[in-house]
Amino acid sequence: MSFEKLGVMKQLLGAINDLGYKNPTTVQTRAIPLVFANSDIFATAQTGTGKTAAFGLPMIQCLRSHSDNADREIRGLILSPTRELSIQIHEDLQNYAKYMKLSIAILVGGKDIESQQKILKKGVDIVIATPGRILEHVENGLSLKSIEIFVLDEADRMLDMGFVKEIRKIHPILPKRHQTLLFSATYSDKVRKLSKLLLTKPAFIEATKRNTTVDTINQKIYLVDRERKAELLAYIIGSRNFRQVLVFTKTKASADELIIELKKDGLKCGVIHGDKTQAKRLKTLNEFKEGKIKVLVATDIASRGLDIEHLPYVINYELPSIPEDYIHRVGRTGRAGRNGEAISLIDIYEKYDIKEVENLIGIKIPQETIEGFEPDPTIRRKDIENIKLKSEHKKQEKKRVTKKAPKKTTAKSLKVTKKKRKTTKRD
Ligand code: AMP
Repeated sequence: MSFEKLGVMKQLLGAINDLGYKNPTTVQTRAIPLVFANSDIFATAQTGTGKTAAFGLPMIQCLRSHSDNADREIRGLILSPTRELSIQIHEDLQNYAKYMKLSIAILVGGKDIESQQKILKKGVDIVIATPGRILEHVENGLSLKSIEIFVLDEADRMLDMGFVKEIRKIHPILPKRHQTLLFSATYSDKVRKLSKLLLTKPAFIEATKRNTTVDTINQKIYLVDRERKAELLAYIIGSRNFRQVLVFTKTKASADELIIELKKDGLKCGVIHGDKTQAKRLKTLNEFKEGKIKVLVATDIASRGLDIEHLPYVINYELPSIPEDYIHRVGRTGRAGRNGEAISLIDIYEKYDIKEVENLIGIKIPQETIEGFEPDPTIRRKDIENIKLKSEHKKQEKKRVTKKAPKKTTAKSLKVTKKKRKTTKRD
């Protein structure tokens, strides 16, 4: 299949060619004709599958500008959960539209609202926004009544971040007749419920198997004691001469602590998490992309949507609270068919959590130890008891939740972690 055969217009083909895209990916092959056919879409596609172009290219083609009239209203709206992902989508869409007359604006928090209003006044065709900020603009008089195409990117993450209220507010402001394209990395009951509200007779696209990690990622586990994780991490990076590695921690505090340890080991590293300003996060990200820093330590939410070309390594310094986040994390590597490696450093307290991840992705990740970093076999009795208790507690909770929800599917793992999620929200 070629982009041309999918009906993509000449100007876009030129831009795609400049970017080096040779053939459309699976999700692009499926989605592009459906968008042209005016169909609503429900797509499960992770980052790395080419989903941005899957909605971005046909959207640009359908909404290409017919006028320069400053009074024209927005006709395309893309909602994304985070600023970083919004910036990424904005960059991608601008690249695609570079040979076309089309104005694409980004409306995210952290930037002053007045300068965004000035851009809107000049006339904009497509807007990429985070839910809270677009609502602020609506309150200030922005009209969404001319929206023709509405995209929800990373819908699962939006729900995890508690944006359902905002989505419910935005939906009724849109005109009755519009096309909705919903993209979600994972497939859960919550997303399905949202799709019922937003979509009319959608076409389903499953770009990746449900809740699985991309095939091109080589995943492995190194067993290690908790207090030796930083040391092992520095050892892996140094001995394997990693030049660019994204490291995930569970919390902002452990990200900050880890950075101190890595710096002691002489590693050039940076950190992005919710307490860093937008400007700082972008600066760090750019330094990482440019190779000025080798190790980028990030929390889950701060890392959403990061598109780092050819990122070869992802390391889970700590497992995420939500098993689904494992998929998001490792999806930063192995993009667009390239090989990547995802390493998880697992201590005894995380053994249950890694099982949950394995159940979710449906594979057993190979476990190894590194000489000199083997976990201490003389685990204290108390520790084992704690783990047993934790696992027992989770099982009980699971039972309780499954009783409530009759449907089997993947929702079970989501619900088990519901309690934890509250604490990690908007990290
Ligand atoms: P996404 O899933 O949209 O985040 O895209 C992941 C990466 O794949 C981005 O770096 C895109 O530029 C790249 N990409 C998207 N579509 C293609 C394609 N058809 N061929 C090669 N690379 C692509």
